[in-house]
Amino acid sequence: MTELLANHVSGRWQTGSGAGTVLIDPVLGTELVRVDATGLDLAAAFAFARGTGGAALRALSYAQRGAMLAGALKVMQGQREAYYEIATANSGTVKNDSAVDIDGGLFTLGQYAKMGEALGERHHLLDGEAVRLGKDPLFQSRHVLLPTRGVALFINAFNFPAWGLWEKAAPALLSGVPVIVKPATATAWLTQRMVKDVVDAGILPPGALSVICGSSQGLLDQLEPFDVLSFTGSADTAELIRSHPAVTRRSVRVNIEADSLNSAWLLPGASADSVDLLVKEVAREMTVKSGQKCTAIRRVLVPQAQADAVAQAIAARLAKTTVGNPRNESVRMGALVSRAQLNSVRDGLALLKQQAQVLHDGAAHALVDADPAVACCVGPTLLGLKDAAASDAADLVHTHEVFGPVATLVPYRDADHALALIRRGQGSLVASLYGNDEAALASAALALADSHGRVHIISPDVAAIQTGHGNVMPQSLHGGPGRAGGGEELGGLRALNFYHRRAAIQASTAVLDRLAPPASA
Ligand code: NAP
Repeated sequence: MTELLANHVSGRWQTGSGAGTVLIDPVLGTELVRVDATGLDLAAAFAFARGTGGAALRALSYAQRGAMLAGALKVMQGQREAYYEIATANSGTVKNDSAVDIDGGLFTLGQYAKMGEALGERHHLLDGEAVRLGKDPLFQSRHVLLPTRGVALFINAFNFPAWGLWEKAAPALLSGVPVIVKPATATAWLTQRMVKDVVDAGILPPGALSVICGSSQGLLDQLEPFDVLSFTGSADTAELIRSHPAVTRRSVRVNIEADSLNSAWLLPGASADSVDLLVKEVAREMTVKSGQKCTAIRRVLVPQAQADAVAQAIAARLAKTTVGNPRNESVRMGALVSRAQLNSVRDGLALLKQQAQVLHDGAAHALVDADPAVACCVGPTLLGLKDAAASDAADLVHTHEVFGPVATLVPYRDADHALALIRRGQGSLVASLYGNDEAALASAALALADSHGRVHIISPDVAAIQTGHGNVMPQSLHGGPGRAGGGEELGGLRALNFYHRRAAIQASTAVLDRLAPPASA
C-alpha cells in the first residue's frame, strides 16, 4: 500500500481513518500516495487555529510575521529538489512548468516577507487620513485595519499546488490570520509536503498553518462570522460555496477565483513585430503547464485580414512542441493532471469543434516516451472561427473554458467589434494587447479594465522584459469580475485587505493621534 499522507490540524499530524484516495502519476499511471480526512475533529481543528494560532500570530508585529515568512522561504528553498520530484510525479509537468508553480510560490512568499519588514513593528494599519465630521476640527474620524480574529480557509485548485498555497497563505499569515488549506485532491501531495516542511521546522506558532487533504466535506460548516474563505476552482463549486449558510447567514467573507476566457488582442494596424509577439505569447500560453493555467489565453482576437497568416505562424510553433513524459529531456510539454482532466479537455474540444475549425490538431503530436493508453497527455490544438461573421454567430468560444492546451482564433472587423467580442467572456482575469500605437493601446486598456482584473500590454519596447500574459506577479492584482469569480488577490499590500476588518474610530484628535504607529515603524 502507498503512504497515507498525514493532515496537520490542532497542532498535530493526524492521518484519516479511511482507506484514502490514491494519487496517480498522470504519465506512468502508477500509484503515488493516498490522502484522507475521514474522522478528523474539524470543530477542534478550527477552534485551535482560531484561538491558539490566531492569538500567537496577532501578538507578533508585521515585521516579525514578515521574518517568519522569510524563515519559511529559507526552509523550502532547501527542499526544492524534492518539490520538483513530487511535481513531476504528481502533476506530470516538465521542469520549466514545475518552476512556474514552485518557484512562483516561493517568489511570492519572499515578496510578502519583504513587505512585512517594510510595515515595521506595528500591530494594526491605518487607512487614509483623519477627516473632520463637523465644523469643529476637534472631533474627527479615522479608519483602522485590524487582522480578523478568525481563520482563513483555503479551498484550492489542482493546477497550482505550490503557488496556490503561498499566494494566499503569505498575505494571510503576514496579516496575522491563521490558515487552514485544503488542496485539490488530485495534486495534494506537494501542498502537504510544503506545509510539513515549514511546520516541522518550527518556524510558525502552533495552529498558524494547518493542512487537510482529502474530502472537503464538513469544512464550510465550521466557518464562523470572522472567518474568511478563499476558493479557487470551478464555477459550479463556487456556486455551492456562495449558497452555503456560512456565507448566506454568517456573513463569512468569501473570495472566489473561478474560470475565465482570457483574450489576446492583436490591435488593428499592428506591425510585423507585434504580430510576432502575439504569435510567441499565444503558443507559449497554450503550452505552459499544458494550458492548465487559469490565466492562459483561450481567445485570440485578430483582424480578419490577418487571421490566416497568424494561424499559420502559431501552428508552426505548436508543431515544434514535443509532448510526453516530462522525465525525457526532449519533452517540452508534459501531461494533464489526471484522466478526469484529459476527458474533460477532450469533451471540451469536441464541443468547441461544433462551431470552430481545427487549425492545428493536437492529435497529430506523437507522444514521446509515454504510452498513449496510459499517459494523460494531449497535444496543443489551435481552433479558429472562419471569419468575423462566424465570430458573431459562435457562442461556445465565449462561454466554455477548455482547461488544457487549446485556444481559438477569433477574427474581428474593427476595434469596436474586437472589444464587443472580448466582453462576451463576461469578465476575465487577464487580457493582453499587442500593437505599436501607444495611445491606441492605452485607450484599449481602459476600455477593458472594467471587465478584467489585469490588462497586460506587450509593445515591442518591452518585448524582452515583459513578465508574460499568464504570469501572476505578486505586485499586481489577480482576479477578475463576473464569470472569473469576482475575486481579488495579491496586488501587493492590497491582498492584506481581505484578512483585515476595517473600522472607523470617531474621537477627539487627541485620541486619534494615539492610533498612529510608533515613529520607528
Ligand atoms: P473544482 O472541482 O471546483 O475543485 C476545486 C476545489 O474545490 C478542490 O479543492 C475540490 O476538492 C474542492 N471541492 C469540490 N467540491 C466541493 C464542494 N462541494 N465543496 C467545497 N469544496 C469542493 O475545480 P477543478 O475543476 O478542480 O479546478 C479547475 C478550475 O479552477 C478551472 O475552471 C480553472 O479555471 C479554475 N481555476 C481558477 C484559478 C483562478 O485563479 N481564477 C486558478 C486555478 C484554477 P477535491 O479536489 O477534493 O474535489
